[in-house]
Amino acid sequence: MAKKIRVRYGNLLLTILVVFLLIYGLVSIFKFIFKDDDGKNKELPIANEENVLPEAEGSGGSKITEEYTFNIGDSFEEVSSLVQDNKLPYTIFINYVKEPREGIVNIEENTLYFEQELTKNKVKWLQSKLTKAGYPTRVDGGFGKNTKKALDQYTSEVMNQKFDHFNSAVEESLELITDNIEDKITLTKEKVKWLQEYLKIAGYYTKIDGNFGKNTQKTLDEYTTDVMGGTFATYNDDIEDSLKEYTKDKLADTTNYYLMIVNKKKNILSTFRPIDLVDITANHSGNVKYIDRKTNKALVKMFADAKEDGITLRVVSGYRSFDYQVNLFDKYVRKDGYEKANKYSALPGQSEHQTGLAVDVDNNSDKKYTVSVKFEETDAFKWLTKNAYKYGFILRYPKGKEDITGYSYEPWHYRYVGDIDIAKEISDNNLTLEEYMNK
Ligand SMILES: [Zn+2]
Repeated sequence: MAKKIRVRYGNLLLTILVVFLLIYGLVSIFKFIFKDDDGKNKELPIANEENVLPEAEGSGGSKITEEYTFNIGDSFEEVSSLVQDNKLPYTIFINYVKEPREGIVNIEENTLYFEQELTKNKVKWLQSKLTKAGYPTRVDGGFGKNTKKALDQYTSEVMNQKFDHFNSAVEESLELITDNIEDKITLTKEKVKWLQEYLKIAGYYTKIDGNFGKNTQKTLDEYTTDVMGGTFATYNDDIEDSLKEYTKDKLADTTNYYLMIVNKKKNILSTFRPIDLVDITANHSGNVKYIDRKTNKALVKMFADAKEDGITLRVVSGYRSFDYQVNLFDKYVRKDGYEKANKYSALPGQSEHQTGLAVDVDNNSDKKYTVSVKFEETDAFKWLTKNAYKYGFILRYPKGKEDITGYSYEPWHYRYVGDIDIAKEISDNNLTLEEYMNK
C-alpha cells in the first residue's frame, strides 16, 4: 500500500514536474523568439492564414465590431494574447509592435489610431479647425467643456463615432474636411463697410458704418435668402462672390468721366474719387468747398456772363463725399424711414454730387428759391435754360423725365458734361444724360 501510494505520489510529482518543465520551456521559447533582454521586441511572427482574422460578412476586409484600447504600460503578452484570442487584428498588432504607443484601434478602418498629446498648441489647432468645420469654439488653447462638446459633436456628426481621446483619426478627418472649406472671412471694420456697401448696391440698404449689428445681419440674411437661397451662419467667400456677381451691372461706368452716369441704378463706389478736385472759386455759399477743376472754370465763365446780363448765380452745393451722403441719408431714414427717404434723397453712391461734376445753384436771393421748384420762376432759371449748354452744362433732372432719371424735377441741379456740343445736343433735343448715352 505504502509503495503503491509512493509510486502514485511519485507519478504525480513526475507528471507535475514534466508539465511544469513543458510550460517553462514553452514560455522561454516564446520569450526568446519575441523579446531581447531589454524587453524590446526582437522578432515578429509572420502573418499566415491562421493569425489573420476572419473577414466580416459582406465586407472586403477584416472587420471587427469591438473597440480595443491598450496602453504603453500593457505587457507584450497582454497585447499579443488579444491577437491569439482573435480580439485584435494581426496587422494592428504588427503596427503596435513596431511602434508601441498608446493607441485606440479603430474598428471600421481596421487601422490603429494613436492618441494625440493635447499640448496647448494642439488644442489651439483643434479649436480653430473645429470652428472652421462649423463647430465653433473659442480658440484659446484650453481644452474645456465647450471644446469637448464641439469635438464630440464633430466626431459623432461627421465621423459617425465618438472617441474617448483626441487621436490621429480625428486629426486626419479635420484636416480633410477643413481643407475644402474656404477660410471664414474676418469681419474687420473695413470688411463690414464693404459688405454694407455691396448690400446697398444690391438693393438691401443698411447704414454703411462698419459696424456689424442686428440690422446688417438682418439685411445680409434677406440678401442671402433672396439671392442665394438660404442664410449663412458665417460670412464667407461665397457671399462675397455672390455680391460681386449680383452687383456687376449696378455699378457706374467711370471710364468716361465727364459723361459718367450715376443714378439709382448705377452706383458709384465709395472708393471713387473725382480726378481733379479743386477749391471752388465760382460764386458759392459757405458750405461749398470742392468741385472738379474744369467744372469750376466753366462755372466762373458762366457766372460772369450771367452777371453781365444782370443775373446773379451762386453754387449752393458742389462736391459731396460718399461719407457725407451716408450720414445725410441715414439722417433721413431715421426721420422718415427708408422708402420715403429714398424718394427725396440720394442713397450714398447714387448721388451725382460725388462725381464733382454736379452743382445746385440759386440766384443768391430769397431762401425760397434755394433747392426748390420755385427756382423755375426766377429770371436766373430762365437765363440758365437759354444759356447753360454754352458752357457745357445740362439740366440733369428735367420735368417729365422722372421715370428715366429716377429723380424728381430739379430746376436747380446742373451737370457739367465736359463738351459744349454734347450739352447742346442734349438741350436742343430735350434729352436726359441717360437717353443721350443710350442713344
Ligand atoms: Zn443736386
